[in-house]
Amino acid sequence: MQPANSLLAATGTTIFTVMSALAHRHQAINLGQGFPDSEGPEDMLAAAAAALMDGRNQYPLMTGVPELRAAVAAVNARFYGLDVDKDREIVVTCGATEAIAACLMAVLDPGDEVVLIEPLYDTYLPVVKLLGAVPRLVRLVPPRWELPRAELAAAFGPRTKAILFNTPMNPTGKVFTAAELAFIAELLQRHDAYAICDEVYEHITYDGWRHIPLMTLPGLFPRTMRIGSAGKTFALTGWKVGYVTAPAEVAQYVAKAHQNLTFTTPPNLQRAVAMGLAKDDAYFAALASNLAAQRDRLAAGLTSLGMSVLPCRGSYFLIADFSPLGFPGDDAAFCRHITEAAGVAAIPVSAFYDSGAPGHYARFAFCKRASVLDEAVQRLARHFRAERAAKLTPAARPA
Ligand code: PMP
Ligand code: GLN
Repeated sequence: MQPANSLLAATGTTIFTVMSALAHRHQAINLGQGFPDSEGPEDMLAAAAAALMDGRNQYPLMTGVPELRAAVAAVNARFYGLDVDKDREIVVTCGATEAIAACLMAVLDPGDEVVLIEPLYDTYLPVVKLLGAVPRLVRLVPPRWELPRAELAAAFGPRTKAILFNTPMNPTGKVFTAAELAFIAELLQRHDAYAICDEVYEHITYDGWRHIPLMTLPGLFPRTMRIGSAGKTFALTGWKVGYVTAPAEVAQYVAKAHQNLTFTTPPNLQRAVAMGLAKDDAYFAALASNLAAQRDRLAAGLTSLGMSVLPCRGSYFLIADFSPLGFPGDDAAFCRHITEAAGVAAIPVSAFYDSGAPGHYARFAFCKRASVLDEAVQRLARHFRAERAAKLTPAARPA
């Protein structure tokens, strides 16, 4: 047999699947893979169910059902003052995951360079490489996750075609500031490059931090693709409904990529998402404030265990430095250990780096019910107490 694709052969199973499987095996509370344990708004579930029964289940229009494209255009105007053409500047996809691939396909030729910011979401690098493009990685480091401006500028060059970046950012919880975005915008204009902006957590920011789409900066619209996800905005991650907003000149190529990837997205889910996007401001405010309370609850719990929890300004995720606990291994070993021995799963932050990552941080998802978060903290507390006690008992000491 001829070998399979060499890049895919070299790509492991995603860390989210690996840790969820391990959590399942050990009946652990899964604070690894980021999915809420609530079911999303009931009216949207009812709308999706009704839309399934109304006899419109054949292929919808390739770029999305008209009511969803209109709804995406409307939220662009309502939240960000963006004036976009619902017929030519929106492409509905199967989740942000497909949108990311479609946007990359829309603009990249083999040999083009793409600037990426580590820590990065797990699909970015494999897709860039599969397209024959060349990643140029710029690294943010904990605990401050500051944008290293000189390094970012140095990553841009004559072969740069695009930047792909994520704000609010998974796993760091960073929300890019207006000044950072202005710096990126200047580089993009100087190098005539595209921006692919993964903004799936656009409505999930805390403590007065506001998401600013790069697309809203002066002069940036013509070169920017902005990606949203109903999975995150409505706590319906299994639905896989994403949407790209892009200038018509670029959106036509995103649509062609979509045409060759999945062609369409389930029409009933699209209709229900259209209804969701029209929800009032109170819905969007409650989404963030409920999650902020869950964040604070888990942060307090992890802190009480002795971990040092980093600030989180957006997303579903807290990062904790577990080095104060004196665990002897790296982050992958720590996350495996707490899943198997304490019954709580987390994700090693090194999984979000290509190589050579900091090795003492774990990512915990807090998009869970309060009782689940409390139980997770109690399990960890029991486990670490027992470990400490075992170290101190005479039986454990050498004779
Ligand atoms: N980008 C980021 C940063 C994510 O965290 C996720 C999923 N959690 C995605 C993209 C994928 O979104 P979707 O489920 O809509 O494909
Ligand atoms: N985005 C989710 C996370 O970061 C996982 C999505 C997936 O499993 N592919 O946890």
